[in-house]
Amino acid sequence: MVTRVPKGQVRQNSPTTATVGGASVHTVGSIKPACFGCKSTTRKLNPVPGTKTMVGCAECIRKRKKEKSTQGRARRQMTTFGITLEEEALIVEFQGGACICAKWTGYNGRSRSLSTDHDHKTGEIRGKLCKHCNDLLGRIKDDPDYFRRMIAYLEDPPAKRLLGSRVVPGHGD
Ligand SMILES: [Zn+2]
Ligand SMILES: [Zn+2]
Repeated sequence: MVTRVPKGQVRQNSPTTATVGGASVHTVGSIKPACFGCKSTTRKLNPVPGTKTMVGCAECIRKRKKEKSTQGRARRQMTTFGITLEEEALIVEFQGGACICAKWTGYNGRSRSLSTDHDHKTGEIRGKLCKHCNDLLGRIKDDPDYFRRMIAYLEDPPAKRLLGSRVVPGHGD
């Protein structure tokens, strides 16, 4: 049974339940909930996302979220590609900090938006590509001849070879 404790009164050594931002918090020895990280009881406390009973100050919640997302990324990178985040960063650096084909550095220069590309036949990791280049490779099924034909096409267009220089109407208006 939970007995109501008047506001501001601290009851020692008995479990109580406090409600913080909708989360039910169990506290022992104090009715004041504390931050899970810095143990502060005076900072503004909010429920910790993804938990039922934890509360924390904004700073500790932010830190926890960042740590969790880095851990999650590290785990995903290892499970999916078998490389560490450090190795991934080395590859990006070795490529000059950008998609090696498009020279794109990722959204806001964040190379983490580059995909880890691998050879689907051998399973070997090849490098880091932006989504555009990675998707293109998937569509042409890694065929180098496609690019050889594309280069020839751009350097010596067939229509121009056949009809001479013909310009679309309205071009340069
Ligand atoms: Zn805190
Ligand atoms: Zn690219």
